[in-house]
Amino acid sequence: MRKDVRILLVGEPKVGKTSLIMSLVSEEFPDVVPYRVEEITIPADVTPERVPTHIVDYSEAEQTDEQLFQEISKANVICIVYSVNNRTSMEKVTEHWIPLITENTDKDSRVPLILVGNKSDLVEHSSMETILPIMNQYSEIETCVECSAKNLKNISELFYYAQKAVLHPTGPLYCPENKQMKPLCVKALTRIFKVSDLDNDGILKDNELNFFQRACFHSPLEPQALEDVKNVVRKNLIDGVLHNGLTLKGFLFLHTLFIQRGRHETTWTVLRRFGYDDDLELNQDYLFPPLKVPPDCSTELNHNAYLFLQSVFDKHDKDRDCALSPDELRDLFDVFPYTPWGPDVNNTVCTNEQGWITYQGFLSQWTLTTYLDVQRCLEYFGYLGYSIVAEQESQAAGITVTRAKKIDLQKKQTQRNVFRCNVFGAVGSGKSGFLQAFLGRNLLRQNMMKEEHRSFYAISTTFVYGQEKYLLLHEVFPDLDYLTDADMGCDVVCLLYDVSNACSLEYCAKVFKQYFMDSKTPCMMVAAKSDLPEVKQTYGCSPLEFCRKHKMPPPQSFTCNTAAAPDREIYTKLTTMAMYPHARLRCMCTCNRCTFCLCQNLLNSELLQSIRAKLYAVVLRRHIIQEDLSSATFWLRASVGATVFAVLGVALFRALLKTR
Ligand code: GDP
Ligand code: MG
Repeated sequence: MRKDVRILLVGEPKVGKTSLIMSLVSEEFPDVVPYRVEEITIPADVTPERVPTHIVDYSEAEQTDEQLFQEISKANVICIVYSVNNRTSMEKVTEHWIPLITENTDKDSRVPLILVGNKSDLVEHSSMETILPIMNQYSEIETCVECSAKNLKNISELFYYAQKAVLHPTGPLYCPENKQMKPLCVKALTRIFKVSDLDNDGILKDNELNFFQRACFHSPLEPQALEDVKNVVRKNLIDGVLHNGLTLKGFLFLHTLFIQRGRHETTWTVLRRFGYDDDLELNQDYLFPPLKVPPDCSTELNHNAYLFLQSVFDKHDKDRDCALSPDELRDLFDVFPYTPWGPDVNNTVCTNEQGWITYQGFLSQWTLTTYLDVQRCLEYFGYLGYSIVAEQESQAAGITVTRAKKIDLQKKQTQRNVFRCNVFGAVGSGKSGFLQAFLGRNLLRQNMMKEEHRSFYAISTTFVYGQEKYLLLHEVFPDLDYLTDADMGCDVVCLLYDVSNACSLEYCAKVFKQYFMDSKTPCMMVAAKSDLPEVKQTYGCSPLEFCRKHKMPPPQSFTCNTAAAPDREIYTKLTTMAMYPHARLRCMCTCNRCTFCLCQNLLNSELLQSIRAKLYAVVLRRHIIQEDLSSATFWLRASVGATVFAVLGVALFRALLKTR
């Protein structure tokens, strides 16, 4: 919103400019008036729109033309005052004042004008007949008002209109010539309608209207007011109300009516609430709220954001097939100024047989955007109206910034839900196949993919010890000269060689030795194309020897040349390694059935974690505050219990590891 409003009064001498200002301030008509009063500032809290307002007088007798021009260029709104009992002063409005103002203001940002007919106490008739044609001729005239400084008629109204002309200009909204809203305004209101139409049936029902009303005006409509609104639309439009709800046509009509009746602040309130600025563009503060992401931290969507995305998906999956058809997706992106997703997205996330993005795929793509480019995610959330629909402070409320990875490593625990795995491998070793297989696509299906639609990312979910996690695979371009920081920074590394290509291990060995040998990032060797006959690698040692030497798990065989969807177990293993980089897991099992897995599940279960956390907290507190003896013995017992519990757990875990 604006910081302040500057109102300038001009007009012929003796029309009553100074008297108007003095009447406003002192609420009585001054008998004696100077030529000109000094600029006055009305503090924000006593003005109707709550912005500081400066009122500036002009007097030909006291000021030069140069001073006048300066004031004109500084003004946000200009009141041209005439006297209703003085024809010449009225004629001068078009002959002198409007041309003078036009000459002294920018063409692009024309200052709004208000025509003020003063001394209405002196005449019986109104000057409106003369004034209306002028209003129609000059679109910069916001409004006109007749008033009297003498009997204080319409004085505060005059200044309120002036304020309103600046804060809620009609210019961007409405075209007086053809009596219609301007295209940009229609576009903005159409987006607002679509966002507010929560079930996407093209009608704003009572609950949606009430939601909209609450979002914009902080209070729902009275049932009677709701009916009145609909009746007004019904009376004027055949298809403005349908099934007792407001159609888009009806919604637009209603706003045209507001504007035509001088209530355009209503329309502005709505537009601003949905993020629009004075030029009817979505403003930057709305699209890009501040969000600090310190180094070593990642960005994820929180529960609330996923709920919102779920509702967005449901709203557009009209045929309820749990996938978005191209038409449904187009409809979803209707509230965007451009189409955000290209065809590569269909090769980044899970799709159904028709190649349409599934519910899982939809959430995955949003997770990916949030992880890789959180600013973009905020922007998209802005278009979808997240902060409004989910009733949040800003788009940033949907984002969790994780703690630094360094701390995760120190604490040997992570709260992250998205893990990044960079996939390295020589040209043609099967990286893309490995990524696509994660999306459930076998070689046959992969061969149908268009080369120009390929993606270097694949994201989906895996279950690690009963918890659902996102694994983000990134295929790294195999030219080592072009590696970026993002190519190195990941939670787990996948080194992939082709069992049928004798030279392919060499690249993996090189990458490992050059970048990951001394890093803490866990690495896994994948023996791709395992359906093909294996050849001896030209590299100095065998893949298995290489892994042993460098304390990596043995090479994992993998093929996507399967009849059904390729095996997913390897992705669960990668996620497990990403989550527990410390655990030198000899057992790579993630079956979720064997004793090892059950034990892991138990140790990681939330119940146990919370019991442990509570006990630790208690023990810690016990050390700080010396409590009385009786409670101390109790806590002592509790802490001993916790220790025994923990020791037993670890022993059990170790024993199981050994037996495998
Ligand atoms: P300015 O030169 O435009 O600033 O005009 P002034 O404020 O000095 O007013 C000129 C004369 O008109 C003064 O004698 C005022 O008393 C008188 N006047 C101003 N406003 C009104 C009004 O509303 N009604 C009547 N009857 N006289 C007014
Ligand atoms: Mg004066």
